[in-house]
Amino acid sequence: MKNEADYMNEMLSSLLMLTRSDQNQIELNLSELDLSTVLIQRTRRFAKTVEHLSFHLNVADELMIQADKILVEELLYILLKNAVTYTSEGSISVRAYEDSGVAKIEVTDTGIGIAQEDLPHIFERFYRADKIRNKSGTGLGLAIAKVITKLHNGQIHVESELGKGTTFTIDLPLVQK
Ligand code: ATP
Ligand code: MG
Repeated sequence: MKNEADYMNEMLSSLLMLTRSDQNQIELNLSELDLSTVLIQRTRRFAKTVEHLSFHLNVADELMIQADKILVEELLYILLKNAVTYTSEGSISVRAYEDSGVAKIEVTDTGIGIAQEDLPHIFERFYRADKIRNKSGTGLGLAIAKVITKLHNGQIHVESELGKGTTFTIDLPLVQK
């Protein structure tokens, strides 16, 4: 269980990140990155901390992107953490493949899903879909995921059905071969 101090720390570092992004003050530490390896290693490591859900990985080889590794890892972590937080049973899948010059990453869960009326708002700061859900959180994770995606000239989308599950899709430009 997280205590109040952890929660405040997380909230403050998230707010700092968003403020710096508003002021165009985020400096990217870019390098050519093997996205495939990052996805596989990070998801495996994350999966070890979760007992009640199964994880599936389906990642194409050598998806090379120009990226800030720490930020890409944070982006993946935000999506995996949500998938676990909002899924009580079933599985989480991470899929990645090439699609006409972009790397597509899909994080799919079999969780509670998101109501259609909430979908347009979930990337907004502090927006949390269901107040009675009794899960703690800042409501800033997806706002940060969107900032990180944009900083990498990518896009983030969501599809969801209540009671069935959710898929977040991220497009990131591939390095030209
Ligand atoms: P935190 O910033 O601490 O992660 P949070 O999870 O509430 O808090 P976001 O990650 O920004 O904030 O998500 C916003 C809202 O979108 C959540 O409160 C939840 O209602 C909904 N949501 C996000 N991911 C999922 C998911 N995989 N399944 C169902 N609902 C989701
Ligand atoms: Mg979250």
